[in-house]
Amino acid sequence: MKDIVALCKRRGFIFPASDIYGGLNGFWDYGPLGTELKNNLRDAWWKQMVITPPLGPDGTPVEIVGIDSSIIQNPKTWEASGHVGGFSDPMVDCKETKRRYRQDHLIVLTSDKADRWPAFHEEAEDSEIEKKLKKLGMPADVSLFEKVNLTKLPVADYEKVVGPDVKEPGTLTEPKEFNLMFHTYVGATASEDNKAYLRPETAQGIFLNFKNVLDSSRVKVPFGIAQIGKAYRNEVTPRNFIFRSREFEQMEMEWFCAPDEAKMWQDFWFDERVKFWRSVGLGSDNMVMRKHDADELAHYAKEGLGTSDIEYKFPFTDPGYGELEGIAHRCDFDLKQHQEHSGTKLEYMDPTDNKNRFIPHVIEPAAGLTRGVLALICEAYTVDESRPSGVYLNFTPAMAPKKAAILPLTAKDEHVPLAQKLYLELREEFPVDLDIKQNIGKRYARQDEIGTPYCFTIDNDTIEDGTITVRERNTMAQERISMDKALDYLREKMRLSGEEARKKAA
Ligand code: ATP
Repeated sequence: MKDIVALCKRRGFIFPASDIYGGLNGFWDYGPLGTELKNNLRDAWWKQMVITPPLGPDGTPVEIVGIDSSIIQNPKTWEASGHVGGFSDPMVDCKETKRRYRQDHLIVLTSDKADRWPAFHEEAEDSEIEKKLKKLGMPADVSLFEKVNLTKLPVADYEKVVGPDVKEPGTLTEPKEFNLMFHTYVGATASEDNKAYLRPETAQGIFLNFKNVLDSSRVKVPFGIAQIGKAYRNEVTPRNFIFRSREFEQMEMEWFCAPDEAKMWQDFWFDERVKFWRSVGLGSDNMVMRKHDADELAHYAKEGLGTSDIEYKFPFTDPGYGELEGIAHRCDFDLKQHQEHSGTKLEYMDPTDNKNRFIPHVIEPAAGLTRGVLALICEAYTVDESRPSGVYLNFTPAMAPKKAAILPLTAKDEHVPLAQKLYLELREEFPVDLDIKQNIGKRYARQDEIGTPYCFTIDNDTIEDGTITVRERNTMAQERISMDKALDYLREKMRLSGEEARKKAA
């Protein structure tokens, strides 16, 4: 990881933010190449979601529109979503469902005889508790347990606690005393009334615009709304380079569907998202799909909650994995909450039956863009002692920040104008690099380290017969082609690699 971080800085992918002031923990800046790489991943996601969304189970393309919502929203948004808790109210999160609970609102049924202790909202009726006990395969008799408020339970015992919306113990985080949201004040006075928050996720901006999108476009359930943008979390321990930072980017899509189709769509989106990560170059060995087993799925289908994760083996998680994307079934939770808190109806009316009004259920593929960039870099990082750089980045051509470099063999007058001519031609279609100075070995080394798939070299033969040398990054194999054909060559290579990526994805 140290080598990867060093290469990112040396070659201009990622720098510590405010570097000249000694940085700021949890914040990073993207340099010239990191920005290109991030844009390539962002654009590939936008294309899969909004421009060419996949074919649905009926063989026709599904419908998804994009939005770009404000980072600061009415603070009531975060009360409705559950992100604002009172300052003195510690919150626990469920790692599985992403739901957040006031610690003092949860009651746990403890027992010496059971290794699982179910938790409930303090207002849960005994009949509800018994139903859940049955579902967990436990004796459905409340009197066999002791009811203890979660605040009274040592955190070490949380391993035994089964959160209110899950089936397995150990998903509740330790209580957090402070809110992860950054706040600011809107307007001239810094008073409580003017307090607002930087969004901790892009998802809520989508729910806030559900009605606007319905009223202004021709979408019909099932459909999706997609958004890419910055999110902010005052993480307690930002770490592992850009994996967990305090400012990061997310790519989220909320898929609104009929409640009885939610499980089917969750499976659909899970498969599509795995294909996406494969298509941008993540090898299947380093990626795992943590899908709930059939039993769990049945449970979630009933209760409408649960997340399947796509995880990646980062160098710092190896042999374990770190979450790259979660595909969550959010039920009708968010729309219902916003309907209640805003007083605005957020129902959908079935156009074929206006008596059928309902709040759609939501499947949410939520990915980290910046975390994805880190996965791409880790996956591409290839040690090769046989070359001067000792390492190259094996990006797919589509993700590579530069598709080709144009290198005049010497900075002498005849080579440079030809290189400039080729550069001006190629850059109309592809991001390419013109690199004139230094010996050719050093320039190849630089292109290897930034992951450029092709180098075109102009030498004396170019002047004589109009041919140039092409060097392929991974094999270092060289061939000569006519300079007139360089654009066609690059087009064909990009086309072939695109085809290969699609095959890998399938
Ligand atoms: P984690 O458990 O790692 O804190 P999360 O489960 O809370 O993440 P979500 O709220 O589901 O994350 O956000 C969706 C995606 O956003 C994550 O899969 C991850 O890729 C990305 N993400 C979340 N928090 C961060 C962060 N602090 N830095 C970078 N990316 C993040």
